[in-house]
Amino acid sequence: MTGSAAAQKARRLSGGCFCNAVRYEVEDAFIYAANCHCSGCRRATGSAFKPFAGIEREKFSLVTNEDELLIYGDDTAQDCHCARCGSLLYSVVRDGAFVHVPMGTLIDAPTIRPNHHIFVGSKASWFVITDDLPQYQEHAVE
Ligand SMILES: [Zn+2]
Ligand SMILES: [Zn+2]
Repeated sequence: MTGSAAAQKARRLSGGCFCNAVRYEVEDAFIYAANCHCSGCRRATGSAFKPFAGIEREKFSLVTNEDELLIYGDDTAQDCHCARCGSLLYSVVRDGAFVHVPMGTLIDAPTIRPNHHIFVGSKASWFVITDDLPQYQEHAVE
């Protein structure tokens, strides 16, 4: 490793489910964060939208036993919930290379902040976005 950024170990954040049966750790090195308004995220979380942050899968690790997980999906795209309380803890996405962490499950505060809204085209009609962050009908496009 060269350079101070690479040599310096990223701070690790803790996260977990409602009942505390599942705990995870993730580096405070998220690459992107957004609020997703798609119907899937709404139903998975029971919320108006899901604030989530994305990171390479290897920078995320479970602290507790994998037996405590309820996994919905296959190896390339799956939602991982606590098998006891049902909290959505993380999603494995992008052919298994990345993890999306629902930011509400983070116990420690991350450095990153959601800086745009995605899938606003399928937003709940009863919810009004009141901030000035960029909005995308579906995925964010540069
Ligand atoms: Zn739980
Ligand atoms: Zn979504």
